[in-house]
Amino acid sequence: MTRPEASGLFTADFAGAQVCRSPNFGERRDGRRPNALILHYTGMETGEGAQAWLCDPRSEVSSHYLVHEDGTVVQMVREADRAWHAGRGSWQGIDDVNSFSIGIEIVNPGHFLGFADFPPRQIAAVIALGNDICRRHSIARQRVLAHSDVAPGRKIDPGEKFPWEVLAAAGLGHLVEPAPIAAGRILGPGDRGPAVAALQRMLARYGYGLEQTGVYDNATRIVVQEFQRHFRRARIDGLADLSSCETLRRLTDGLDNHTSFG
Ligand SMILES: [Zn+2]
Repeated sequence: MTRPEASGLFTADFAGAQVCRSPNFGERRDGRRPNALILHYTGMETGEGAQAWLCDPRSEVSSHYLVHEDGTVVQMVREADRAWHAGRGSWQGIDDVNSFSIGIEIVNPGHFLGFADFPPRQIAAVIALGNDICRRHSIARQRVLAHSDVAPGRKIDPGEKFPWEVLAAAGLGHLVEPAPIAAGRILGPGDRGPAVAALQRMLARYGYGLEQTGVYDNATRIVVQEFQRHFRRARIDGLADLSSCETLRRLTDGLDNHTSFG
């Protein structure tokens, strides 16, 4: 009889997953339980290389799951444990993202190795896995996030080619129809005042780690850029044009009462 502990294996939390155990994990701090799902791309040349790296003790990184380009799902860390996928970051004012999230690494070379389209069968596997995780842990749709959402300025994955709308159509993640890009007032670097403060307040209310300074500083530019990379992908420039502001308003409408940009 095979003893799972002796072989270094465990029973997969997701029925469709193979198991390849990573040594890179710990306990969730303060007894936190997963209430967010963070999506990544691997940013490496091959899926095999990424899997080996995530399971190598020298890398000191891991993820609960890896989804290969052919749709194969590999579990590396038990969902009960704290995988080392997100690093420094925050969402809705809470840091130590690893302690409150489950991480999925999606095989893709990423921005610096010729950013490829995500194959449909890979996305189908992410949807099946993500929906199963969210159902079992009662994770709200608004808490299915990009690594770039929780670590703006440090991370840009899974990137603007990631088909969030395909996920949303399958019930995974929260998205609104982006407002069309049109001429009009644009807030950008150097601007200051109540309109900038209102923008910062709204981004922070949605979840982004951003101080309300009333000044369109570099942190604001970066958060707007990462907001666009997830929610208004037609133009990613870090400028708060009318389309970005309106898309943000639509997104937050379900969360709280109307906030004016002044
Ligand atoms: Zn990442």
